[in-house]
Amino acid sequence: MTMPLQDTVALVTGASSGIGAATARRLAAEGATVALVARRRDRLKELAKAIGQDSGQALVLAADVTSAEEASAAVEAAVAELGRLDTLVNSAGVMLLGPALDTPIAEWEQMVDVNVRGVLNVTHAALPHLVRAAEDSPRRVADLVTISSTAGRVARPASSVYNLTKFGVTAFSEALRQELLAKRVRVSVVEPGTVDTELTTHLREEIRAAAQRQTESIQPLRPEDIADAVAWIVTRDRRVAVNEILVRASEQTWLATVPPTPPVGRRRGKRYRDPSTSAIG
Ligand code: NDP
Repeated sequence: MTMPLQDTVALVTGASSGIGAATARRLAAEGATVALVARRRDRLKELAKAIGQDSGQALVLAADVTSAEEASAAVEAAVAELGRLDTLVNSAGVMLLGPALDTPIAEWEQMVDVNVRGVLNVTHAALPHLVRAAEDSPRRVADLVTISSTAGRVARPASSVYNLTKFGVTAFSEALRQELLAKRVRVSVVEPGTVDTELTTHLREEIRAAAQRQTESIQPLRPEDIADAVAWIVTRDRRVAVNEILVRASEQTWLATVPPTPPVGRRRGKRYRDPSTSAIG
């Protein structure tokens, strides 16, 4: 039986864990040969082995996407080894939440570097190959999917720079979508709510505890739920362009995953929070 992505090549960043790993596995199950990009080579090798055991094919390309040289080298290596590039999924990202007044500038820089610069570096290198794939593949279409967030839709306290990066990639994607539609390179964003991954393990201790308290009463999404959304996008016929998918956990009422902000003042001797900065919408 022909699989939907047979004879295509997909490159997935952030493939060493969470959403990227689940997406790479899913695209391989749909028939794509997948190039796995992240910094932790050992994790990529484990995933490549698992994909091979499921009769898929994967290529390990350890790279730091914040480096334009490493990102470009990874894309060129994928094309050199696998012959083409039909699908790019930008999943590499970091979420370092916290009130602006307390946040070390290094955390802001890291989010801009990975979530914005990383997306730009990989996308810039991949675009010419995606255009070529859309011209010469039997499917006559190529796909560029970036994992944004509910935080790319609504800004919240303690999330300012994460919001900046996710609003940024959504705007970037929408402009690219309009530029590239005539070339049949479809450009999409997927906006997950709370997903059970390693993302929060990089938060500072007190922020992580607050984030955990906020999400402990809901059942989070699994990375495979987001992989489903990506697979839906990239397996559509060329006449269909699914440009944006928002996927929240069923019990999630708020838009962005942000820890509660600290009390901002005192009223009649009691500390109070400004309701406009309440974390849960
Ligand atoms: P994980 O922490 O599990 O995965 C993040 C991935 O990004 C890892 O594979 C990591 O690999 C990679 N990465 C980080 N920095 C770099 C770098 N400099 N170069 C290359 N790869 C890098 O988190 P998720 O799977 O949850 O996150 C994936 C995406 O989904 C992110 O963009 C995140 O913002 C978004 N998202 C996640 C949500 C959630 O609730 N989990 C909600 C909404 C959006 P390595 O360390 O090996 O380099």
